Amino acid sequence: MTDLLIKNTRPMGGETADILIRNGRIDAIGPDLSADGVKVEDGGGRIAIPGLVDAHTHLDKSLLGYPWYRNEVGPRLIDKIDNERAVKREYGLDAHVQSMRQSLQSVSYGTTLIRTHVDVDTDQGVAAIEGVLETRRQLQGVVEIEIVAFPQSGLMRRPGTLEHLDKAMALGADLVGGLDPCGMDRDPKAHLDAIFTIAEKYGKGIDIHLHENAELGAFSMDMIFERIRAHSMQGKVAVSHAFCLAASDWNMTQGLIDTCAELDVPILTTAPPSRDVPSLKRLHAAGVRFGAGVDGFRDTWGPYGNGDMLERAMLLGMKNNLRRDDEVASALYVCTTGGALAMERAGHALEAGGRGDVVLVEGETLAEAVVTHAPRKLVVTAGAVVARDGQSLRARP
Ligand SMILES: [Zn+2]
Repeated sequence: MTDLLIKNTRPMGGETADILIRNGRIDAIGPDLSADGVKVEDGGGRIAIPGLVDAHTHLDKSLLGYPWYRNEVGPRLIDKIDNERAVKREYGLDAHVQSMRQSLQSVSYGTTLIRTHVDVDTDQGVAAIEGVLETRRQLQGVVEIEIVAFPQSGLMRRPGTLEHLDKAMALGADLVGGLDPCGMDRDPKAHLDAIFTIAEKYGKGIDIHLHENAELGAFSMDMIFERIRAHSMQGKVAVSHAFCLAASDWNMTQGLIDTCAELDVPILTTAPPSRDVPSLKRLHAAGVRFGAGVDGFRDTWGPYGNGDMLERAMLLGMKNNLRRDDEVASALYVCTTGGALAMERAGHALEAGGRGDVVLVEGETLAEAVVTHAPRKLVVTAGAVVARDGQSLRARP
């Protein structure tokens, strides 16, 4: 927690102003601010935005720092899952080192808040959770990391996983994860009852991966809604991907979206170019909390990606056919303040009392900053400078 005065910026692309941060929070935004003894940074007239928010990634999966991974993995989901466990064993992948590498790369792009799903399975138990917890400890004050205990290899189909999931929560994971209760586990009732029971036991929320399409996804969503009502977990259960919300049956998807609004179910997208994704405009119109993330990148699942949430805002805009400047700015909102709200973090905005997370970006307007996503001039976390000219100040392992 630090004090900092950033002179000569354009908050959210508006009029020139200074931003004063005290004790890690924004104290004031206005013209010609001064503060005795406070460190000063010159914004150079650049646009200031809040810290970028990566609301869905996998810090333990990245192969950053390794030579290029030659991907020859089969087409099915289970091929990718089985292959990943084999590669982790072969490489002796260290979740702490990999999560440090990815987190610091994300910081260099201006991300100050991350929600990561971390694998829990019967091969490695909770080792990856422990590794990412250590990363979180070491990067305190640099980037906030929220951890979801994620049964990537399935829950019911791999007996013993549930016990590891329970242990992960006891160690300090923030949310319980889940994965395609029908498509992956083929036992939606047992899968969902298990994760809701653990969440209730630890008083934590849930963030479930739901890739299931159309009617199958809608069926799983309905079973999730039933349990939110039964456990009174309104506002505590998020759904990642939710591809079923992009199904062509408009009446079905509108019903699901309306229920997400009613039960306050945040939707988290990664806006993958390969899939139809939930509509930003429809979710915003219904009042559904909506965040975005880079998903896993440069891992055994696929070769693409770099961790840049400004680039992800562009992908979100492209997937949603957003062209007007105000529309592109709404995609950026999802990747900043909107994503933070989806993670139950209020005050992640450039306003007095808000968190002192500020990123200086290049461009005349917010839309240009998204489209060009040039290297970030300055990244500030809770008043501390953590990256400059596209480089995190802390070296990557
Ligand atoms: Zn994921």
